[in-house]
Amino acid sequence: MFRQSTQHVGSYYAACYPTPIPQRPALQGQLDTEVLIVGAGFSGLHTALRLLQAGKRVTLLEASRVAWAASGRNGGQALLGWSCDMPPLEKALGLEGARQLWDSMCWAAQELRELPGRHGFDIDYRPGSLWAAVQPRRVQQLHDAQHDALVNQGYDQLQFISREELPDWIASPRYQAALYDPQGAHLNPLKLAQGLAQAIEQAGGQIFELSQALDYQPSGSGYRVRCAQGEVRCDVLVMACNAYIDQFDRKLAGRLLPVGSYQIATAPLAPDLAQSLLPRNSCVIDNQFVPDYFRLTPDHRLLFGGGCTYLGGIPRDVAQSTRPYLERAFPQLRGVEIEFGWGGHIDISMKRTPDIGRVGQRYWLQGFSGHGVLPTLAGAQAVADAILGNTQLLELYQSLHNPSFPGGSLLAAPLEAAGKVWYRLRDVV
Ligand SMILES: Cc1cc2nc3c(=O)[nH]c(=O)nc-3n(C[C@H](O)[C@H](O)[C@H](O)COP(=O)(O)OP(=O)(O)OC[C@H]3O[C@@H](n4cnc5c(N)ncnc54)[C@H](O)[C@@H]3O)c2cc1C
Repeated sequence: MFRQSTQHVGSYYAACYPTPIPQRPALQGQLDTEVLIVGAGFSGLHTALRLLQAGKRVTLLEASRVAWAASGRNGGQALLGWSCDMPPLEKALGLEGARQLWDSMCWAAQELRELPGRHGFDIDYRPGSLWAAVQPRRVQQLHDAQHDALVNQGYDQLQFISREELPDWIASPRYQAALYDPQGAHLNPLKLAQGLAQAIEQAGGQIFELSQALDYQPSGSGYRVRCAQGEVRCDVLVMACNAYIDQFDRKLAGRLLPVGSYQIATAPLAPDLAQSLLPRNSCVIDNQFVPDYFRLTPDHRLLFGGGCTYLGGIPRDVAQSTRPYLERAFPQLRGVEIEFGWGGHIDISMKRTPDIGRVGQRYWLQGFSGHGVLPTLAGAQAVADAILGNTQLLELYQSLHNPSFPGGSLLAAPLEAAGKVWYRLRDVV
């Protein structure tokens, strides 16, 4: 599946980036470093910055461009929690263990608010997220989530928004109720990734683009990692490759299913119209099995994601295939001009639980299952702290035991596709 690319995809983020997107050199020759991180998405970048701040020597290898993949293309919704929600974490770790992970998620939300100011960059941060129910019978899920968050995590921030109150938040007849989280937020993910890269370089870290790690071998107490035109020796290796890990580590790849996900951005709307759609400028995701998610941008576009493909591909015309979902949520936008449509891959793990761990001095972060803006930051904290000697959070993640997909990704994709048809039916009946 992996293809190296010199260019970002034609997303709204890349096209409307305020300056030329910085380019970095490829690795040439031999290099020695303390920590080598493979993959310059949020997972790799956050891990690198935390280690640099603790005084480590850090190098990043990126096969394409910084944030070329999911981290530069996503919906920009920074939602507290993981794709699997809390019950599987509570079952695997007990209430106390799950609560420690939740606390790290709350730390990540605060860290994301403070990072840009600390390092002098802007990410178009806007606070507030809504989790909305489409079907009347799924309103109870919102009540349950609010209750569990309070009782099990001590999290009292969630506010229930009834159907009567909803027009103040979303101008759509589709939703029955919602849960508002003031700690959730939305932001420009490409600006975040590029800001992190700049902070890494200012702290003395090195980033090489167009430098795909081809393989790794143990070397002394560390590793040697080979690229087409160079090689890096490191004491510690961190793999942050997400859905693109493929041949680099087949065992880790076997625990992931790459799933295509896509979104669209309208042309700028009249400011009044844009504001009328989401009067409080919160981002929204629904609680369907395959959710729709949307938000406004600072230049008054509606950014809308919906639908996914389990068999790897991205629709040829993303705008045409996603438009019906947008018009279903906002009939008042029927026929609106869609200026950008793009896709990317998410890394689904079998139980949708994060797959974060280590063997010896080799660490990995993956399995964010389509929900990674905050979870990558929480995961990076666990990995970086373990490298620095505190393994408490990493041990919790390792207790989650992510299995391989039976039959590998060849068989897993059609099985998941069949499963999805069943769950999608439950979205409509
Ligand atoms: C369309 C879309 C919408 C999404 N919307 C949201 C959202 O609104 N909210 C949310 O929380 N999450 C969302 N996500 C998920 C979120 O973007 C991801 O979970 C997160 O960005 C994963 O970050 P990462 O660093 O682990 O992976 P990535 O960002 O995918 O980065 C992995 C990097 O590793 C590089 N790489 C891979 N193999 C090698 C190699 N061998 N050598 C060198 N480099 C390599 C790749 O080129 C890539 O740049 C969305 C994802 C997609 C695709």
